[in-house]
Amino acid sequence: MKSHAKAVVIGGGVVGCSVLYHLAKSGWTDIMLIERSELTSGSSWHAAGGFHTLNGDPNVAKLQAYTVQLYKEIEEISGQSCSLHLTGGVMMADTPERMDFLRLAHAKGRYLGMDTELITPSEAKAMFPLMDETNFVGAMWDPVEGHLDPSGTTHAYAKAARKLGAEIVLRNRVVELTQEVDGTWNVVTEQGTVKAEHVVNCGGLWAREIGRMVGVELPVLAMEHMYLLTEPMPEVEEFNKSTGREMIGVLDFKGEIYTRQERNGILLGTYEKACKPWSPVSTPWDFGHELLQPDIDRIAPSLEIGFKHFPGIEKAGIKQIINGPFTFALDGNPLVGPVQGLTNFWCACAVMAGFSQGGGVGLALSNWMVHGDPGFDVWGMDVARFGEWATLRYTNAKVRENYSRRFSIRFPNEELPAARPAQTTPLYDTMIANNAVMGDSWGLETPLWFAPRGSEPKDVVSFHRSNDFGPIGEEVHATREKVGVTEIANFAKYEVSGPGAEDFLNRLMTNRMPKTGRIVLTPMLNEFGRLIGDFTIAKASPRGGEDRFMIWGSSAAQKYHMRWFEKHLPKDGSIRIHRFDQTLVGLSIAGPKSRDLLQKLVDVDISTKAFRFMDFREMAVGGAPCMVNRITYTGDLGYEIWMAPAYQRLVYKAIKEAGEEFGLVDFGMRALLSMRLEKNFPTWFRELRPIYGPFEGSMDRFIKLEKNDFIGREAAAKEQAEGPKLRRVSFIVDAADADVMGDEPIWAKVGGKDYGTVEKPHGYGAPRFDAGGKEVRGSNAAEGASAVRGIVDGNWRVVGWVTSGGYAHYVEKSMAQGYVPAALAENESAGLFEIEILGQRRPAHINVEPPFDPSGEKMRT
Ligand SMILES: Cc1cc2nc3c(=O)[nH]c(=O)nc-3n(C[C@H](O)[C@H](O)[C@H](O)COP(=O)(O)OP(=O)(O)OC[C@H]3O[C@@H](n4cnc5c(N)ncnc54)[C@H](O)[C@@H]3O)c2cc1C
Repeated sequence: MKSHAKAVVIGGGVVGCSVLYHLAKSGWTDIMLIERSELTSGSSWHAAGGFHTLNGDPNVAKLQAYTVQLYKEIEEISGQSCSLHLTGGVMMADTPERMDFLRLAHAKGRYLGMDTELITPSEAKAMFPLMDETNFVGAMWDPVEGHLDPSGTTHAYAKAARKLGAEIVLRNRVVELTQEVDGTWNVVTEQGTVKAEHVVNCGGLWAREIGRMVGVELPVLAMEHMYLLTEPMPEVEEFNKSTGREMIGVLDFKGEIYTRQERNGILLGTYEKACKPWSPVSTPWDFGHELLQPDIDRIAPSLEIGFKHFPGIEKAGIKQIINGPFTFALDGNPLVGPVQGLTNFWCACAVMAGFSQGGGVGLALSNWMVHGDPGFDVWGMDVARFGEWATLRYTNAKVRENYSRRFSIRFPNEELPAARPAQTTPLYDTMIANNAVMGDSWGLETPLWFAPRGSEPKDVVSFHRSNDFGPIGEEVHATREKVGVTEIANFAKYEVSGPGAEDFLNRLMTNRMPKTGRIVLTPMLNEFGRLIGDFTIAKASPRGGEDRFMIWGSSAAQKYHMRWFEKHLPKDGSIRIHRFDQTLVGLSIAGPKSRDLLQKLVDVDISTKAFRFMDFREMAVGGAPCMVNRITYTGDLGYEIWMAPAYQRLVYKAIKEAGEEFGLVDFGMRALLSMRLEKNFPTWFRELRPIYGPFEGSMDRFIKLEKNDFIGREAAAKEQAEGPKLRRVSFIVDAADADVMGDEPIWAKVGGKDYGTVEKPHGYGAPRFDAGGKEVRGSNAAEGASAVRGIVDGNWRVVGWVTSGGYAHYVEKSMAQGYVPAALAENESAGLFEIEILGQRRPAHINVEPPFDPSGEKMRT
């Protein structure tokens, strides 16, 4: 074993081997993988080996599609077969709601280049004759599904990596990790110490333990998982013989089961409700190629439904039940990337579908390590997406919830209950008493809307407009016409101070920094000129002769942004960044009467001239020391008031009392988001993400190319000079009783003109076939299925995608934001666009100026 390496990958499961292969492919050959036992000694060896491309997050779906495409490549390089069976598969819907869910998934696939199709239950039965199709209302066909040999695949990655120069050391446990002052890692193993520049945690079932070696508690937990294998079945053999095909994979939401052909029989796995964590506190180091005791009672309810839906399987004898553990993060997606607070410590763990995701994870991580950027939008699997609140017990509760809901529909207005409430502000009980429906905002309880007195404060979950529609409308109208107050503790807040703080921020941000007492809005870019942040920055009065800036941003991106800030801090410690998290909380008041209200609570003049739009002041509000921004996300006259938690109740009480004469109402996050829509304001992570450039994101007025050399400036200047290919736009949609939720395709009537912005199908799909073995294309009689398939329909083309939207209650219009080719971005013609909502294409038109207060006069008054 060598004593130095540029990177050490810990763990030889499918993920570690994929990371090793991708690093080697990127040109890093001075790398080694250290495995405790033999390759595949964690969960990889007993996996069912299924793969698919669909994922709730379209960006993760793309990386899954990459993984599937990769198998041919690693087979060729390594000479090792992965035993790939690209059979295709169907998802079966047993209710109209589940069919809505499939329509949404199908619609997303249109701009991801995924060749899914909505089909009838009988069409599905033709490909999997063991089902009783009368249990279902429809299905979605995905050609890029199948199964492979887990062990062969892991070895194919490993062999391919070795061929490119990587070293693999087996039977050698990493027992300790320490770091030198210069950043070098000491990877202490049973066979000696390796000095490494980078360490990657691919520890799978032991990822938690490896995290603990560097003082990090990763939010990952292993769950027991069972699948059964039947004896050979004559029906299967007969189908194979008569069609010359293998049976397809089937996912049944109702039964929480997946099933497919395995040799001459069937494999059937469950995600049962009564799920069970495995080794919830720590994973034993001596766990090896072992299986857990099967527990048929636990999966019996799923099997009962499964046998009803697939009576052909019930008749078969069960040959074996496999029960093995594998890991999950809170939301079921992987934990990938550099860990905030550490240098060159990387994660690629909690990969629950290693054979769908392992390749994409390896590619993204190797890009990140070698080129400084993952190269894709990997927020959905970024290790930075969870905060300190994701403790061991929190993780346990959330992972169990996620596992048991794996095949459940998550409605757009659905808040999940496990591990809540976690963090609360001092106003939590007051908000509950006010009949607030609370939501989880990065581990913090936040009022979403206020249910009428006497009614139960609860969302009726739906893809359509629901019971919050009326009350939110009232909150919006009262705020726009008089004044409203809302909690804004769920924003990220930072203070940057020290000599040179201004230069530091000028180097990071695209806008000029404000003068003392003023505020600016500014995006932040990476070196490639992509949007990685969007902030409100105020300059406070200097303290001790040092500059001080207050920064507000997206709550969910706190660790993501801290990681970036820390990476760019000068090494001499001259600049300090303080992340307040919940040690600073806030309230926002907005609406035409908000100034009169605030004036009653402060002892300074806050008239239009004395406290201008985009001013910042430290002042006492209702007797409490506060910071006040004259700005609000409602886009109206309004203020954000920030205080230590100990003062929040005092300030709220003062606002409520003073507001009575003005008709003050409480409003929640959903009303706030509705009001921002009618101002065409973007949101971070929906409209603004690292896949877009600043001009694509229509952030032009915040990009000051001439101010100084900021990070990403060169790339942004290029984007501007060449002209952005896409533009973020706002639409008014002729919706029925459902508004957009995000990720819907945008169609345009552009004739044969190709704007070239939509992903083309990746062309790696298996054909769908009927019982006679004939390839089927085009019959599409599924209940309510869209009349079009693919991305072209006569003169109509999918030209873009929706990022978010909803109902704009004050202007009384359904609105959407999204990206379209730049050449179409200012075309407000009616009849040019349609947006596909739940399988129905609804007319939409671009709306360049915001429908509420287009001149911005109200917010400046
Ligand atoms: C019953 C079952 C069915 C499944 N079915 C599927 C499926 O159909 N499709 C799919 O995609 N996925 C499936 N999975 C999940 C899949 O197995 C995992 O996603 C995958 O194995 C994760 O791989 P990994 O490399 O992250 O972790 P692991 O396979 O757990 O590998 C981690 C490796 O790290 C090594 N290691 C840990 N700590 C150290 C240390 N300190 N020093 C050195 N080495 C160390 C371990 O020995 C191990 O070999 C299934 C899992 C189970 C249990």
